[in-house]
Amino acid sequence: MDNQTVINKTKEHIANTYGRYDVAIQRGSGARCTDFDGKEYIDFTSGIGVNSLGFCNETWALAVSRQAQTLNHTSNLYYTEPGALLAERLCKATGMKKAFFSNSGAEANEGAIKAARKYSYDKYGSGRYEIVTLVNSFHGRTLATITATGQDVFHQFFDPFVEGFRYAKANDIDDVLDKVNDQTCAIMIEVIQGEGGILTLEGDFLNALDKLAKERDILLIVDEVQTGIGRTGTLFAYSHFDLMPNIVTAAKGLGGGLPIGAILFDEKTQNVLSPGTHATTYGANPICCAGANAVLDYLTDDKLRTITQNNTMITDYILHLPHVKSVSGLGLMIGIEIDIDNQTVVKKCIEKGLLVLTAKHKIRLLPPLNITAEEIDAGLAILKDVLHSI
Ligand SMILES: *Cc1c(COP(=O)(O)O)cnc(C)c1O
Repeated sequence: MDNQTVINKTKEHIANTYGRYDVAIQRGSGARCTDFDGKEYIDFTSGIGVNSLGFCNETWALAVSRQAQTLNHTSNLYYTEPGALLAERLCKATGMKKAFFSNSGAEANEGAIKAARKYSYDKYGSGRYEIVTLVNSFHGRTLATITATGQDVFHQFFDPFVEGFRYAKANDIDDVLDKVNDQTCAIMIEVIQGEGGILTLEGDFLNALDKLAKERDILLIVDEVQTGIGRTGTLFAYSHFDLMPNIVTAAKGLGGGLPIGAILFDEKTQNVLSPGTHATTYGANPICCAGANAVLDYLTDDKLRTITQNNTMITDYILHLPHVKSVSGLGLMIGIEIDIDNQTVVKKCIEKGLLVLTAKHKIRLLPPLNITAEEIDAGLAILKDVLHSI
């Protein structure tokens, strides 16, 4: 097939829910991929922070294909090894007590919301079900998670929405105090708002949230779907701050390109979801868990340090480019504020062979966590060319 055939077939038969660029990707290796007409791109997107180890990493692909030849799936009525190992590793690395595996970020957040409500129900009875989330957050596309998402654009067409969400301004503890009441069971945040524009929350605000939550037995849920699994230079981004979440969710980068999400529960919440209260058919799929274990194998302290060093290198370079007003984010989650239209930049980058993302009015970079210095240089050179040409 050629690019146009793939594009035409997609337009004809796949529901038109995505604003796509005219790029049909056929294959990839590391941070490079090739379209059906043979054009090469440097990939600063990793899907959307999914391909932690880039395209078709050899070790990852081997682990996945070995698992596919050993045990592809069985129901959660039985035990399997890859999920048990993955849960053990995530718990040991974080001090959390138990994991539940889902298939996506939204689904992990749904489970977290259910767990928060049930924790409160078990302890305080019905009625204490409200969850405070932040304005400009993003938590997913299911009915509960679009409601949790603190952006009005998501709150149309699909009503009635799920009851019990209130929105407080980020970095404004007084507004949080205003939204919290006797019916609040949880506060749910991203420590860096990803879709919202790579906005890192302030340390003082996060400390105050943590303190408030502990004082009132309100659960702190940290949505690490975009920030988790090494993306910011630590396994989870909350550890950059003085935070002890009760529930953490992950997805995107966890499987390295296979669909898997996780909910991690602390001491207090570990037994809230009891038999019969939560389930998903594909949960802890052995192939997805084998992919996730390969991602965790890669993320040694050394590799995490390199992610942080690459942030410094990339940020310093970008700050010297024309049209750049500021750079935000941590690790390989980078937001670039520019004084020109970001879609124009994205399209010019595509022309010149570089894939980048946007978040609100910014350019967003989520390169593979194992991107090489050479691949970074090649991508940045294109970005420089593009910004000089506009
Ligand atoms: C992408 C994202 C989600 C949704 O994940 P899906 O896998 O698309 O359901 C939820 N929360 C955050 C912070 C995200 O970035």
